[in-house]
Amino acid sequence: MLSVRQMLSEKGSAVVSITPNTSVFDALKVMSEKNIGAVLVMEDEELLGIFSERDYARKVILAGRSSKTTEVKELMTSKVYCIDPSRTIQDVMELMNDHRFRHVPVMENEKVIGVLSSGDVMRGVVAEQKNTIDSLESYLLRQ
Ligand code: AMP
Repeated sequence: MLSVRQMLSEKGSAVVSITPNTSVFDALKVMSEKNIGAVLVMEDEELLGIFSERDYARKVILAGRSSKTTEVKELMTSKVYCIDPSRTIQDVMELMNDHRFRHVPVMENEKVIGVLSSGDVMRGVVAEQKNTIDSLESYLLRQ
C-alpha cells in the first residue's frame, strides 16, 4: 500500500506557511496564489495551527468579521493532527474521515516535511487502482 512518504515524493514537499499575525486577507491571498485550500501557521519552524477556506467561510464571512483587521491566530485551529511519513494512504483517509478535515501535515522528527490534501489522497487511490489493474491485465495476457 502507498506510504505517506511515497505520496510526498510524488507531490513534492513544498510547505506553504504564514505567521500567526498575518491578516486573514493576506492568508487568503497566499492560498489563492498557491492554489491551495489551507495554509499552515508557523513561527520559526514550529507548527502553531492551520487555517483553511472553511475557517474563512464560517468564522469570518458568517460571523461578520473583517478579513483585513482579523489575524489568523484568532481563528486558526491550534490542535493540528499530523501524520508520520511511515504511515499509509489508508491512515491518512481514516484521519481525514474521522475528523472531517481535508488537510494533514506530514511530520518527521518534529519538523513539517509536507502537507497532504484530500485531492492528493484521491490521486493516490486512483494511481494505486490503476497499478493493480495494469498488473492484473498483464498477468491475464501472459496466461
Ligand atoms: P478543511 O476541511 O481542511 O478545510 O478544514 C476543516 C476544519 O478543520 C478547519 O477548521 C481547519 O482549520 C481544520 N483542520 C484542517 N486540517 C486540520 C488538521 N490536520 N488538524 C486539525 N484541524 C484541521
